[in-house]
Parts: sequence; structure tokens; C-alpha cells
Amino acid sequence: MALIVGGCLCGRVRYEVERDGAIVDYCHCDTCRRSTGGATVAWMQVHPSRFRVTAGEAVAYASSEKMIRHFCSACGSQLYMTDAEGRSVGVTVGTLDDKDAVVPAAHGWDSARPSWLCLADDLPRFAADPDYDN
Ligand SMILES: [Zn+2]
Ligand SMILES: [Zn+2]
Repeated sequence: MALIVGGCLCGRVRYEVERDGAIVDYCHCDTCRRSTGGATVAWMQVHPSRFRVTAGEAVAYASSEKMIRHFCSACGSQLYMTDAEGRSVGVTVGTLDDKDAVVPAAHGWDSARPSWLCLADDLPRFAADPDYDN
């Protein structure tokens, strides 16, 4: 079991997540972009049993009927996303203490990627949600 840790910008909210079996990919969708203010977002998805908040408490925002995004109420960092059915937790790779701890393996919502964002790799690209998310 490989535990990795992360947290928000101000340090109030901390979490730990087990890396084994994680799905790591980019999401270029409009909602991810706008909710973080970043050009794109890399996510690490795990089963909910593999994720724990270890300090502080995040606030929840339902960004759609199914998806709930969790932020630090003090500094605004988006830390993780859950779904109404409890299928998975997505952790924002950008909030991991070790930014190289995991590496994305695919691009989701490539059709929504800004035209100026060029990530030169041979990873699979999905126009919308990756097949494995459905
Ligand atoms: Zn914070
Ligand atoms: Zn997205």
C-alpha cells in the first residue's frame, strides 16, 4: 500500500490517498477548468475507501447533478471530487505534496482543451469522458 499525502494551499485541509490501482488522467472540461482557474486539471481517481481527510474539513459544492467538488474554505484550493453514488474520489494531482508522485495516462474531454494548450504525448485522448469512467 503506497500512501501519498497532500493538502490545500494554506495547509488547513490535509488528506492521504492510496496510490495502488489509481486512475490518473487529465480532464480538459470546462467545469474543471473554471472551478480551478487552471488551464487543465490532472485527477487521481481511487475507490472512496482509499482516501481520507486527515486534517481540517473541506466545503462541498455540487458542480453538477452527480459531481461534488470539495474546496478549502480559507484558501480556495480544490482538493477532491466525489460523486453522488460513492463510486470514486478524484484527487487533484496539483494538491499532492509530491507533484511527481503519479503521472497522467490519458486525456479526458480533449475536445474542450484550450487550443493553445499543447501537451505533446502519445497518451489516449477521449473527446468526452474516458470510456473507463462510464
Ligand atoms: Zn486552505
Ligand atoms: Zn472535468
